[in-house]
Amino acid sequence: MELLKYLDTFKALPTPFYFYDMELLRETFRQAQEESCCIPLSFIHLAMKANSHPQILQTARDYGFGIDAVSGGEILKAIEAGIPGPNIVFAGVGKTDREIIIGLKNDILCFNVESIPEIEVINHLAGQMGKIARITLRVNPDVDAHTHKNITTGLEENKFGIDLCDILPTIKKINSLPHLNYYGLHFHIGSQILNMDVFQQLSIKINSLQNALENAGITTNSINVGGGLGVDYTSPEKHPIPCFHEYFQIFYKFLKLRPHQEFHCELGRSLTAQSGALISQVVFIKEGHVKKFAILDAGFTDLIRPALYQANHKIINLSSSTGEDIYDVVGPICESTDVFAQDIHLPLTHRGDLMAILSAGAYGHVMASEYNCRPLIKEYTSDDLK
Ligand SMILES: *Cc1c(COP(=O)(O)O)cnc(C)c1O
Repeated sequence: MELLKYLDTFKALPTPFYFYDMELLRETFRQAQEESCCIPLSFIHLAMKANSHPQILQTARDYGFGIDAVSGGEILKAIEAGIPGPNIVFAGVGKTDREIIIGLKNDILCFNVESIPEIEVINHLAGQMGKIARITLRVNPDVDAHTHKNITTGLEENKFGIDLCDILPTIKKINSLPHLNYYGLHFHIGSQILNMDVFQQLSIKINSLQNALENAGITTNSINVGGGLGVDYTSPEKHPIPCFHEYFQIFYKFLKLRPHQEFHCELGRSLTAQSGALISQVVFIKEGHVKKFAILDAGFTDLIRPALYQANHKIINLSSSTGEDIYDVVGPICESTDVFAQDIHLPLTHRGDLMAILSAGAYGHVMASEYNCRPLIKEYTSDDLK
């Protein structure tokens, strides 16, 4: 991501703010699209909970991506950005009646369903509206994603999905209900996955489930492998675009898709993280007896990942490059967890310096809050600043 060429523009804007490099974003989308072509009938959905900026949604539409939504609000925002309902899949353990009705009204592709009570409610509401809802079952495949415990979702102890042994009876239940159509299987085992063996294991689990279902006479139209591909938070400059080649090749090699079976994936972080940066100004340098603190005007209200799951984001000083010292980079919020990085090497840093927190394009602004009566900060794209 080229930040320095925007330095003068950044200096004229009130901080903090998010910046999205649309050139990098488009190249990322292009590569994902191109690499997915090894799998016939493949569909990429942008998991818009990672980033729902209208220009990013429109870019997803331009590249032919659909949307993975996890709330009624996301469905409505995707439609507003021009994504057709039939390109939207809808996940979530706690879909309310109001949200299910939004999905039905907009003829979304499918509901990724996680429990029997949810199946009954969708059948009831679809019946009232004279519709047939397509149902994909979110399977809990009991695969360890080997990622942070707060972003692991595919283990039996997690709240997500239906256990493998309950899948066949659940499909039979769906097929017995008049307003539902069993459409396919859905998996999402976690996030920030860098070990491709995890996706290989997932493929193998899917294959054996498919065999068992076929033996029982069940036809599955669609396999959705979820998201989870990770990005390089340590050296984003070296790896600005994740290795989509490796990712899609794993499924190409190991997942036994049937003829005419659709392949869906829902990528969030890998599509948007590296194109975003949180730009902030140093308010004070505070020298303690043991530590030097660079106190920013951005805090966890703007980017909560470090406080929420001890995430590391690379931080660079955009306006100073001489000397070196060791700093804790912290926010201004009255909570001890409002820390972006500890004991990192930076050039000598001063009050007023512009800092960039990198890889902030996923789970950044979308998780912002107004705690401490701090207003939500602005987002600028490189297209805006041209
Ligand atoms: C969050 C989520 C995703 C996206 O995950 P990433 O790790 O950002 O790719 C995909 N599918 C579902 C169901 C999700 O909840």
